[in-house]
Amino acid sequence: MPAIPSTKPYRIGRSKTGLGLFATKPIKKGTKIVRYFGPLLDSKKAEDDAIENKYLFELDKRWTIDGSVRENVARYINHSCKPNAESDVKPRKKKIIIRAIKDIEPGEEINYDYGTDYFKAYLKPIGCKCEACERKRAKKKAEARAERTKVKAKDERKAKKTTEKPVKANAKQRAKAKMDAESTARGKAKSRRPVSTVGKRVKSKSAAKSAAAKRPTSRAKAA
Ligand SMILES: [Zn+2]
Repeated sequence: MPAIPSTKPYRIGRSKTGLGLFATKPIKKGTKIVRYFGPLLDSKKAEDDAIENKYLFELDKRWTIDGSVRENVARYINHSCKPNAESDVKPRKKKIIIRAIKDIEPGEEINYDYGTDYFKAYLKPIGCKCEACERKRAKKKAEARAERTKVKAKDERKAKKTTEKPVKANAKQRAKAKMDAESTARGKAKSRRPVSTVGKRVKSKSAAKSAAAKRPTSRAKAA
């Protein structure tokens, strides 16, 4: 039995977060990729309103599509903060079409933005694993690593300086100690001075005496 070639430009495959939808053919920007479909839930009906799963897609305040059914291949499309597709919601027709917003190459994963509500409820608590967020995280990590290296280098420079400083400080301390010692010696000399002044006075008295003794000579000279 010959295999019927798939006309669909996608396949279900392994992605980082589990399963995902991948392009198998080039998909031109603006073209419809797949319809997001499932039973229509009426929020006015209590039984419909009670249904809760990750595949609910709100059309408007009243109507929601329950995309958790197996046949809804579009449920495999993962969220991206920088997607290559969008969900084109047509509330009046009660239809959701996933459409390419960029040219998509074969092998590329198809993504669309799930919207703020879904992001806040399901993705933010666990951290968005989309390529854009992973790249942002990798960049932040690299920056943090670079910053740590910078800080480490700075610390090492600082540590080197502080090991050099004590030597300088010791030199300064030694110089100060020397100066202190000298000034103390001078201080001691000063305090000793009164004692020596006595001698000096005596000396000067004798000098005066000798000067007086010399005076007659000079007087004699003058006379
Ligand atoms: Zn993201």
